[in-house]
Amino acid sequence: METFDVVVIGAGPAGYVAAIRASQLGLRTACVDEWIGKDGESTLGGTCLNAGCIPSKALLDSSEHYYRLVHNIGAHGIKADNVRFDVKAMLERKDEIVRRLTRGVEGLFRKNNVTWFRGRGKLREGLKVEVEPRHEKHQKALLEARNIIIATGSVPRSLPMSPMDGRMIVDSSGALEFDEVPRRLGIVGAGVIGVELGSVWNRLGSDVVLLEATDEFLFFVDEEISKVALEEFSRQGLKIRLSARVLSAEARDGEVHVRYEDGDGKHDLAFDRLVVSVGRRPNTDGLDAEAVDLYIDESGFIKVDEGCRTSLPGIYAVGDVVRGPMVAHRGSEEGVMVAERIAGQKTTVNYGAIPWVIYTWPEIAWAGMTEKELREAGREYRAGRFPMRANGRAMAMEENTGLVKLLADAKTDELLGIHMFGPFASELIAEAVVALEYKASAEDIARTVHAHPTISEALHEAALAVDGRSLHM
Ligand code: NAD
Repeated sequence: METFDVVVIGAGPAGYVAAIRASQLGLRTACVDEWIGKDGESTLGGTCLNAGCIPSKALLDSSEHYYRLVHNIGAHGIKADNVRFDVKAMLERKDEIVRRLTRGVEGLFRKNNVTWFRGRGKLREGLKVEVEPRHEKHQKALLEARNIIIATGSVPRSLPMSPMDGRMIVDSSGALEFDEVPRRLGIVGAGVIGVELGSVWNRLGSDVVLLEATDEFLFFVDEEISKVALEEFSRQGLKIRLSARVLSAEARDGEVHVRYEDGDGKHDLAFDRLVVSVGRRPNTDGLDAEAVDLYIDESGFIKVDEGCRTSLPGIYAVGDVVRGPMVAHRGSEEGVMVAERIAGQKTTVNYGAIPWVIYTWPEIAWAGMTEKELREAGREYRAGRFPMRANGRAMAMEENTGLVKLLADAKTDELLGIHMFGPFASELIAEAVVALEYKASAEDIARTVHAHPTISEALHEAALAVDGRSLHM
């Protein structure tokens, strides 16, 4: 039996980062992962690299290029006739990016002396992890650990009334693998995955209908931003039906028949493919948590404190398998924190400054509190807004949709929330997060020199607007 200072279970962005950091700190580290890639070989990187953030971004980018050439490039005086695309080539490009990145993680493990065990990690009494291989060429192993970090991520939630068959009715991973454009694409759940993948296939020509149970579009996004985004996505062709409760979905005669109900009654629709994207649940399947009495809460998350300590000494959990936003970067930061805490440091994660991005075009990004959350918390605040249509760089790019909105404490002027809908919002949000991290005021951003002409000037102007002194509106 091999002994390690740290055994990490799961090699997604939470787990592999934890393993690298632990090893950097001189801790003898192993990482166990069961993922089998499309080529049938074990692979690192988890959902994010293999079937989530990275492949979806690859297809989002490809489809954005195509859409721009067909719909927007004419405004620049460029004529692009007869623009065509090859879905299979797009998928191959995506797979190649995944290959490069997952191999990159393998290289990082070698460089940092992280030992990779291929198989499912199961918790055993006395801080032990059993590795159960999924491939006959890999070995069974029992590892002794001084510390265990669980980073087993999350899996798509399914709906009993629309069981996935992996071909006609698929989850988000399946929706990254359509080798031809579905003429009619249904999506259950207009959340982050629904609008991102809906955008990909809509741009490539699918007739996309999103069925969303709630009466608010992207209810977790600031309401002003979600309202503008709904208008823009509808203009782009996404058919977003709110308050739509799916009653049944069935694949039959080469089609998926969906019955749903809304305020106007019951409706029947037929699609060529249906994507179910109604959230993800923490993945504790096969971990044997009950064998060691690890506490899992009523929603299925492993219960942890602010330092990601579980109910059992020496066992930590990070990323999607614990409370908090299901975003890769939160998991990575928790992985770093836990590795450093094991090494005796006093690292923390600032949960109040975690950026969110939805990779539509334009992009939605935010950090901190929404107006609704501030109202509910009874906080007095001032808001400053600046529309993209008044930003010179956005205008030069023919990108006139969206806005930046800043929320600051009414008395102290401390920034409380930053919300954006616009080009490159995913990049611009970094400035806002730094501001939150340093507890900046709106005035701090207003006094910071921003390059001209850039999209970041919209953030600057929104900060000026908090004090009613925007210069270009
Ligand atoms: P989500 O929580 O973003 O959205 C799910 C949507 O489905 C919600 O709007 C919900 O109201 C709706 N819904 C739930 N049950 C329904 C039903 N029966 N019928 C119709 N609608 C229903 O979840 P997701 O889009 O599946 O994404 C899963 C997780 O992955 C999220 O936590 C998300 O943060 C994460 N993710 C993040 C990114 C990113 O950061 N860009 C990208 C993809 C996924």
